[in-house]
Amino acid sequence: MEESFIFNILLIAVFITSIFVFIILFFITAPYGRHMRKGWGITLKAKFGWFLMEFPSLAIILILFLIGNRKNNPVAIAFLIIWSAHYFHRAMIYPFMMKGGNKKFPVLILAFALIFNFINSYLNGRYLFYFSGIYSISWFGDPRFIVGLILFISGMFINIQSDYTLLKLRTEGETGYKICYKGFFRFISSPNYFGEILEWTGWAILTWSLAGLAFALFTVANLAPRAYSNHKWYKNKFPSYPKERKALIPFIY
Ligand code: NDP
Repeated sequence: MEESFIFNILLIAVFITSIFVFIILFFITAPYGRHMRKGWGITLKAKFGWFLMEFPSLAIILILFLIGNRKNNPVAIAFLIIWSAHYFHRAMIYPFMMKGGNKKFPVLILAFALIFNFINSYLNGRYLFYFSGIYSISWFGDPRFIVGLILFISGMFINIQSDYTLLKLRTEGETGYKICYKGFFRFISSPNYFGEILEWTGWAILTWSLAGLAFALFTVANLAPRAYSNHKWYKNKFPSYPKERKALIPFIY
């Protein structure tokens, strides 16, 4: 069987799975963090879970770059740097900054996330560093690259700033939840998710690839229902929760 056939099957599978994930997650919220609950099998330490879950995306893209046929292509190198900037932070820094004591993370969620991360990294890395037509140096001046990069950087800034604003709400070892009034939290309950969605939308545009588009859609499918659940959870838990605040999209949703 040719690799391109397997690649296409996986790509189609991600598009189709996104639709199901989007619907299912409105009914069953993934059981980690504030939505953690009993009955989801064995667990491991959350920090370790996050590291294990995200590290493959950093490693796989590098391996695919090294075994690909674009090692001297400046645009391919830029793609590698952009992707790795996100995943270096997510795998090597963020998990170790998390507070919340010895919070647990279900192995089942880790397993689902790992399957997705392997497939997603493969699709993006293999397309960009092997299957795609060569991106010439003029791609750096293409409006798609410029707009996509601006979105990616803005999204990464919002995502990281919001995550660290949340982390600062707790002192070391504290496990509870507070209302955040700073930064983008004045407008929406989950600006970290908003930033993440912006990042991968930017990635889809700057790579102008179906693999990038599949990742962006899956991110929306994963995070939009969770943002809705988080928003509902805040409103139930805190009677004084700001009424004007939206779930995910400022002033709209
Ligand atoms: P959350 O916003 O639920 O939590 C982020 C961190 O802040 C956790 O450590 C959490 O603690 C803590 N926290 C959250 N709310 C409060 C509060 N009100 N008071 C005090 N502490 C709080 O994000 P996730 O854990 O779901 O996601 C983390 C990152 O991973 C985000 O940047 C997200 O965008 C990204 N992500 C990306 C996905 C994708 O599909 N690309 C999928 C999932 C996540 P605790 O763990 O105890 O709840």
